[in-house]
Amino acid sequence: MKDFDELNAISELTNIEDPLIRCREITRINHEGDSYPIHSFEIGSTDTSAPVLGLFGGIHGLEKVGTQVVVTYLSSLFKQLSWDEELRRSLEKFRIVSIPLINPWGMYHHRRSNPNNVDLMRNSPSRTHEKTKFLLSGHKLSEKLPWYQGNSEQMEHELQTLVDYVREHIFSSQRAISVDFHSGFGLRDRLWYPYARTLTPFKHITEMENLEYLLNETHPHHIYRVEPTSESYTIQGDAWDYLYDEYIAKNPDGVYLPLTLEMGSWIWVKKNPLQIFRRGGLFNPLKSHRYDRTMRRHIMLIKFLFRAVGSSKAWVKR
Ligand SMILES: [Zn+2]
Repeated sequence: MKDFDELNAISELTNIEDPLIRCREITRINHEGDSYPIHSFEIGSTDTSAPVLGLFGGIHGLEKVGTQVVVTYLSSLFKQLSWDEELRRSLEKFRIVSIPLINPWGMYHHRRSNPNNVDLMRNSPSRTHEKTKFLLSGHKLSEKLPWYQGNSEQMEHELQTLVDYVREHIFSSQRAISVDFHSGFGLRDRLWYPYARTLTPFKHITEMENLEYLLNETHPHHIYRVEPTSESYTIQGDAWDYLYDEYIAKNPDGVYLPLTLEMGSWIWVKKNPLQIFRRGGLFNPLKSHRYDRTMRRHIMLIKFLFRAVGSSKAWVKR
């Protein structure tokens, strides 16, 4: 088995023994004789209809910081669970579910894609009919070019694992929020909501706007630009569009907000231009004070969403 910092940190988390925490290796990615595990964590209530917050990272292997944010949060949560009785009581009523690293081969090899050169965030059957950006929106031209969609009729192993996991752990709930952590686009940190495939508003836009209002009121100095993904660019094969459409078809009364946090890594490069010559430098904060600030910032967001999932009457008003 290959090992590297992020995977080691995840393995470390699996050693924790607590009746509120369940973790397992859900599958392995095997490639050229090497093997890379994918781990999942479920924390809190075992009632799969309980409100749920999903945390996902490392779909794009290069974007290590996404996995680091999820692991930092889980590690802090696990430590807090060892002494915080109030937190334990609230987790008896709702849940956190997580796959911190979906594309371990990509992270080990400093690659955005999986071993088949497929961009996992372009690989689902979801389709856009809006104007697309050349290559970036997803394409089937050549696997040698970035943002290659692959065959969406048969999703890649990593993406199928994520889709199955979300179906099993999130679709059973009537109140759900998830965040998929990415980095690399723009100067600002963007909190994206559906759709990526169309500019048409999604079914839960009112709930999303209510949640944004709560975020603005509770954390007036937050740094996020909250907007639909399609505001930046449309995407062919976006996995969250695909999962969201399936969720609303199966849960006519349910509310699900699948969010994507796109950390604006260009600001790290702007402040430290030489880092573009370092591995992963375009996608990750390399200076330690910037890394610390990135962790602090987004842990605040996760804690806010965790409270919001447990108090859904504040943003689902019906
Ligand atoms: Zn990404």
